[in-house]
Amino acid sequence: LTENSIIEQGIPEHTAITTCAYCGVGCGFRAELRGNTVVRMTPWKDGRANEGHACVKGRFAFGYATHPDRITTPMVRDSIEQPWREVSWDEALQFAARRFREIQERHGRNSIGAISSSRCTNEEVYLVQKLVRAGFGNNNIDTCARVCHSPTGFGLKTTLGESAGTQAFTSVDSADVIMVIGANPTEAHPVFGSRLKRRLREGARLIVIDPREIELVDAPHIRADYHLPVNPGANVAVLNAMAHVIATEALHDAGFIAQRCDRESFASWLEFVSAEHNAPEALAAATGVDPESLRAAARLYASGGNAAIYYGLGVTEHSQGSTAVMAIANLAMLTGNIGREGVGVNPMRGQNNVQGSCDMGSFPHELPGYRHLSDAATRGQFEAAWQVQLDPEPGMRIPNMFDAALDGQFRGLYCQGEDVAQSDPNTQHIEAALSALECLVVQDIFLNETAKFAHVFLPGASFLEKDGTFTNAERRISRVRKVMPPLSGKADWEVTQAFAAALGCDMDYAHPSQIMDEIASLTPTFSGVSYALLDEKGSLQWPCNESAPEGTPTMHRDEFVRGKGYFAITDFVATDERANRRFPLLLTTGRILSQYNVGAQTRRTDNSAWHSEDTLEIHPHDAQERGVSEGDWVGIQSRVGNTVLRATLTTRVKPGVVYTTFHHPVSGANVVTTDNSDWATNCPEYKVTAVQVSRVSAP
Ligand code: SF4
Repeated sequence: LTENSIIEQGIPEHTAITTCAYCGVGCGFRAELRGNTVVRMTPWKDGRANEGHACVKGRFAFGYATHPDRITTPMVRDSIEQPWREVSWDEALQFAARRFREIQERHGRNSIGAISSSRCTNEEVYLVQKLVRAGFGNNNIDTCARVCHSPTGFGLKTTLGESAGTQAFTSVDSADVIMVIGANPTEAHPVFGSRLKRRLREGARLIVIDPREIELVDAPHIRADYHLPVNPGANVAVLNAMAHVIATEALHDAGFIAQRCDRESFASWLEFVSAEHNAPEALAAATGVDPESLRAAARLYASGGNAAIYYGLGVTEHSQGSTAVMAIANLAMLTGNIGREGVGVNPMRGQNNVQGSCDMGSFPHELPGYRHLSDAATRGQFEAAWQVQLDPEPGMRIPNMFDAALDGQFRGLYCQGEDVAQSDPNTQHIEAALSALECLVVQDIFLNETAKFAHVFLPGASFLEKDGTFTNAERRISRVRKVMPPLSGKADWEVTQAFAAALGCDMDYAHPSQIMDEIASLTPTFSGVSYALLDEKGSLQWPCNESAPEGTPTMHRDEFVRGKGYFAITDFVATDERANRRFPLLLTTGRILSQYNVGAQTRRTDNSAWHSEDTLEIHPHDAQERGVSEGDWVGIQSRVGNTVLRATLTTRVKPGVVYTTFHHPVSGANVVTTDNSDWATNCPEYKVTAVQVSRVSAP
């Protein structure tokens, strides 16, 4: 047999079970190998998140691992104007450590920090936050969840008591009413999207709240009962109006509220939400939604049986992202739709390990398990285990780091697996901040956009080259297994450990299972987790501890994690980013099935040809006003920058709204997005940018 015929006939020499490294569904895969070469990825039938299914992204996920663009040798340079110099691991790590120490000596302990990645494993994220706290001696650690689901953490912790979704994916099989808000599961979470569609075909009712007519609205054999085409930025107004209808028409679950929820907060909230200014008619101009449709959707959600809410970045990436998450939790508590199968509040996490990176304490104010730094007892536990004194003061969030870099207060950044120059908003601002750093250490598998500003490049390892765990959107911890040796000689956890050693912070792990053992010993929600149990059970949903030795598919069953559910007041405050005569259209952004985030991985796999460029979706009416035809180049100008895309004319967006994806660096969607952000968490307002669109000649 030739190698090609082996591939065609699907005959591998050996296989290993691992977990997809793309979206938050976390599908199990069987990686099939010949020697050290992956020849095929087949969905694992025993994978609890996917039950033998997979999407096109996951099936081709191995292509980028051996792409010729991989950088496998460490590199350094004295300044970003100089060419890279290939060096040994030891030289690169000593170079980075020396510069970081010099910066701290000259500018203080808080002048350096790190960003961890939701594409890395739990164990790797844990090590980066440990390095910052124990090695840098500060809390300047943040994760890329800052720019996607940080409002989920804040909103769900405030209302329910835990920063996580409430259900397993299988729960949707028992839903009678499914409300999808600011999410596009069939494109962004395809395997779960298929499960959701199956339930809809079985007869579940569907409410979609989205400025854009997503595929679910009119998918074959499915028709949304209600599509509420909310104006970008008005989610809170829609959710408040729905709650107003339910409360004033006495459709709420009084028994559930009396038994499970905080009486005082409910009384205040009820007075707030019942006020006339929260009626659908009063909010119609802000929401852009027909009041009668909104009233009907609210009645269906409250009275249609088991009602489940699925939401995504269309909820969180707003100036009121945290408020919207709390408004969603309010709706679920108001109607008793929480604490059993078929209901709940379900954040659709974008990246494979967003949930895990948050769980692992990579926020500047929280230690692993979402425990605030100000809690002396928790700090004491970590101080005893790590043999260090921890700083009780929260550190800088990602946007604070960039602002401080421009002020000269922050000068050294270790950025693991995160391409902030492409993924964060207002690219001009980010690039200026990165240029101001004295030492930027980038750890990645490719020389990404951020690396253009780096002084040290540490080669990363793909998910196929390391052991560890990922935690998906349903809190499911699954094993990642090494199926080929790291091309650079080191997995990411080994690089962080070696960097820590160069800084004089000794870590001594021989295998990621030992890191997980430490996590379990210090984190109550993970105390029952071990590699042995994961291997035995296949996967585990946290909390997994003495009270739940086999994990917890449904949270808040008998009582909320915080005790009584808390109704937060969710005043609607319109974003500052408004359309006007100069910028008359509102740009919103999203994803497409065949690509993943900034495309660094998917653009280097066999499915890249299926989506070769980002385009601007524009309503034919708005296009005609501007003399724009299908396929024309258009300039998009916002208050902070401008870019050029090809136009796609479609009625999927309503007049006044334009839409694009951000998978290709050349399209520069984030050149135009602003640095407005969520009031509670600084999650950027990617979903609302006032723009002008005009026809231009080809760039
Ligand atoms: Fe599953 Fe998401 Fe990977 Fe697709 S991208 S295979 S849905 S984990």
